[in-house]
Amino acid sequence: MKHLLSSVVCKNNEEKQKALVELQNICSQCRACDLCKTRSSIVFSDGRADAPIMLIGDAPGPDEDAAGKPFVGRAGQLLNTFLAEAGLDRDKDFYICNTIKCKPPQNRVPTNEEKRACQAYLFGQISIVKPKIILLCGTTVLQSFIDDDLKITEIRGKWLNIFDDIEVMAISHPSYLLRQHSTEPNSPRWLMKKDLEKVKAMLDEL
Ligand code: SF4
Repeated sequence: MKHLLSSVVCKNNEEKQKALVELQNICSQCRACDLCKTRSSIVFSDGRADAPIMLIGDAPGPDEDAAGKPFVGRAGQLLNTFLAEAGLDRDKDFYICNTIKCKPPQNRVPTNEEKRACQAYLFGQISIVKPKIILLCGTTVLQSFIDDDLKITEIRGKWLNIFDDIEVMAISHPSYLLRQHSTEPNSPRWLMKKDLEKVKAMLDEL
């Protein structure tokens, strides 16, 4: 993974914003996979170019496709609630994006070919933003970064050694948590709360 981060060097927030706009402009013309045929717009990112935390989801859904922003539907609203409860601020602390920039039809999981076709944009974003912490949100994203057979339940909440100088953790996807209502100890919602508390503690430490 480390070799996929190019040597983009942005000295300040202004340079990061400029580099991200350039990358987004290229992405908006992209026709590297068939998902370009069904998108309304690319869904590139939301948040600050110099954010300390990058949260990566899998692919846009219909709400994101319509808005052109990631995590704006019901799952995004639930994510915002979890972040706020942990003392994290979506607007101040986060740069949010997806592994895939165009909505797959019928909300299906992106194929490996689509993920490969879109990979350069994601690694460009990581190289430019250079966050202190990356959160891999859900099984599909985790599998893109580590192993096709890994399940989020096996590894969520642990700090992972994937990139030099970036702390990486996998967390549950809020779409999954929409279907889980219990907040009892060790329930998925309770575990998400604990994982984000760890993220907040790490952010305060860095
Ligand atoms: S999903 Fe990615 S690779 Fe495929 S068309 Fe959209 S931007 Fe290009």
